[in-house]
Amino acid sequence: MMLPVINSVRDVAEYQLCSGCGVCASVSPGTIRMTDAIGHGRRPVLTGDGTDGGSRRALAACPGIELRHTFDERDPALVRALRDAWGPVRRVWEGHAGDAAIRHAGSSGGAASALALWAIERGGMHGVLHAAARADVPYLNETVMSRSREELLARTGSRYAPASPCDGLGLIAGAPGACVFIGKPCDVAGAEKARKLVPGLDERLGLTIAFFCAGTPSTRGTLDLLKKVGVEDPSTVTSLRYRGNGWPGRWTARWNGPAGDAREASLTYDESWDFLQRYRQWRCYICPDHTGEFADVSVGDPWHQAPKEGEAGRSLIIARTARGQRAIEDAAAAGYLVLEREDAELLPRSQPNLLRTRGRLWGQMLALRVARLPRPRYHGFPTARFWWSELTAKAKAQSTVGTLRRTLRRGLRSRVALGETR
Ligand SMILES: Cc1cc2nc3c(=O)[nH]c(=O)nc-3n(C[C@H](O)[C@H](O)[C@H](O)COP(=O)(O)OP(=O)(O)OC[C@H]3O[C@@H](n4cnc5c(N)ncnc54)[C@H](O)[C@@H]3O)c2cc1C
Ligand code: SF4
Ligand code: SF4
Repeated sequence: MMLPVINSVRDVAEYQLCSGCGVCASVSPGTIRMTDAIGHGRRPVLTGDGTDGGSRRALAACPGIELRHTFDERDPALVRALRDAWGPVRRVWEGHAGDAAIRHAGSSGGAASALALWAIERGGMHGVLHAAARADVPYLNETVMSRSREELLARTGSRYAPASPCDGLGLIAGAPGACVFIGKPCDVAGAEKARKLVPGLDERLGLTIAFFCAGTPSTRGTLDLLKKVGVEDPSTVTSLRYRGNGWPGRWTARWNGPAGDAREASLTYDESWDFLQRYRQWRCYICPDHTGEFADVSVGDPWHQAPKEGEAGRSLIIARTARGQRAIEDAAAAGYLVLEREDAELLPRSQPNLLRTRGRLWGQMLALRVARLPRPRYHGFPTARFWWSELTAKAKAQSTVGTLRRTLRRGLRSRVALGETR
């Protein structure tokens, strides 16, 4: 059986290795645009056959097909004990936004938005490229450049739905000054790979912030959840939040009933994630980086303590580069971030499941290799030792045999049709 050859980002998408970051559309805007394939995620649409120079450069920037760590593993500033499982980590804090409204609206403690706000108000940066609900179709997302507190505040909150913030990297490259980029780990990895491929990007990509990510559910997931709570016609939806406005906040949909009456339904974070996670794209199941290892700063949920009813939000804040550490410390000194305590152990204590995820990846990649199925290339992500140390015998078997079963269910041997798009 021949291993399918990946020659273009169309192949990446059709063999389900695409994470939907959008970087290919920024590297080759003349030949690639992004669309929302509702059963899959944000996906590239090519005008040509993918063999032109632009499309080939786009493939070189694709984080779906290849991720390679290049940080200096011997850097004494890095926490050695965390390096193999969590990538480069200099410092770890628990904290939150200094601005009470951003803290409340934010997904965790609003740290991502607060740091971005510091960067544009005090750090001399021009704007913040990130994702937001589309004003005309709130269950879809779009890429925006925020330039004020009001814009950042309105765009807080995780959206457990496809978003491709890298498709706006041209806005950073063409900006009059340095900008912040916020995205999922794969988005930030894509932006980093594109630095040298999009003219002007390298000098203007001033700070990258990634948030932890367990996976992106497709738009089909959101549409099915809307249906479950009584929304028959998604075009009547007027607003949709997945989290935030509380800690961790509720999934809340608002829509107009047949008589134009305003309606609302809401679910707890656990109820909505439990439903949506079943719609995650395949690439998320074999993702090596759930914590933003390529970013200057990454932020996540400090799950080491279960949120109490009515409690204000908190963020786990990780400095991964010297630039990220400087930004965090300057933002804290200026009151934009409140750093409550520092402790490197907070990271593994907050996300213990991710060590098992790292271990499972070794078995999954082995299964894909043996079955000669399309798979990404990862460099600099140790996995074998965690497979051995973190998984039970049953979990070890599931990581290999279970993966093979799943690949059959998902039809990974052949190209998939991307189906309906919006
Ligand atoms: C798909 C997904 C999976 C997640 N999985 C985990 C997890 O496994 N563990 C965990 O600890 N946390 C997870 N989170 C939540 C995330 O960690 C928190 O959003 C993070 O802590 C940031 O909180 P904050 O209050 O600092 O962010 P905020 O200040 O509220 O800012 C959130 C930022 O994220 C951007 N954003 C929102 N949705 C998307 C999207 N889909 N794609 C790109 N950018 C987006 C917004 O534009 C905004 O800039 C996930 C979030 C998403 C969207
Ligand atoms: S992972 Fe990103 S760069 Fe690769 S094909 Fe998908 S959208 Fe394009
Ligand atoms: S799990 Fe990995 S591949 Fe999937 S959206 Fe999150 S960072 Fe991207």
